[in-house]
Amino acid sequence: MPLPRYDAYVFDLDGTLYLGDDLLPGASATVASLREGGALVRFVSNNVTRSPQQYVDKLTRLGIEVHLDEVLTPTVTAVRWLLEHAPDAVVFPIAPEPVVSALTEAGIAVGQDPERIDIVLASYDRSFSYAKLQIAFDAIWYHRRARLMSTNPDRFCPYPGGRGEPDAAAIVAAIEASTGTRCERTFGKPDPAVLELALAGSEISLDRVLMVGDRLATDIAMGVAAGTATALVLTGDSTAAEAGALPERQRPAHVLDGVADLV
Ligand SMILES: [Mg+2]
Repeated sequence: MPLPRYDAYVFDLDGTLYLGDDLLPGASATVASLREGGALVRFVSNNVTRSPQQYVDKLTRLGIEVHLDEVLTPTVTAVRWLLEHAPDAVVFPIAPEPVVSALTEAGIAVGQDPERIDIVLASYDRSFSYAKLQIAFDAIWYHRRARLMSTNPDRFCPYPGGRGEPDAAAIVAAIEASTGTRCERTFGKPDPAVLELALAGSEISLDRVLMVGDRLATDIAMGVAAGTATALVLTGDSTAAEAGALPERQRPAHVLDGVADLV
């Protein structure tokens, strides 16, 4: 049965349009065809190790047409939230360089003095250390002043071939376990605010949007929470059996072998 046409398509990246450095079959032609048909196209990743411009460079290199304002990462969402809700906060990012520079470029104060930190922003950080955990612990528990937030809820980051590496949830868990506090906000998928931000400025209603991704717990859960249609592609993390095992209202509306089946 052919898939219905939607007015907007929001794509996850890794596992959906490419896997590692390889374009997935039909990805470039599919995005081009949707654009030609007049659909709005957006790209949303939970990976904070690259800036939106780096994603534009990568997608362009792989043959997918993309514009900078079409790409959303948790860094973009976090910066916008901080500027709106906590513009004077001192943030301690446990995060890779693109996150730290995005914060400072936006004029957000970044620091590591526990007596001045207002928000600990836990993320994916290959240089995470006991010293960084101590700073977070002191700011949250000893000085009783900092709030804990996170860029993305992912437990691990998958590699092609089945391996992976620990992601932000591991660092959040270390801080939660030692301080007894809870992470109060996560800026990436599946927060439906990410989808609303991705479509900001368009007049398209959410039921005319298709969220396309390979992860049930982030991509599909976000679409369900926001009220969009959803399509799981079987080129990445989640399987059709896992989708079928979910309660009916959390299941993806469509399960596809890959993005080429969208058109
Ligand atoms: Mg993915």
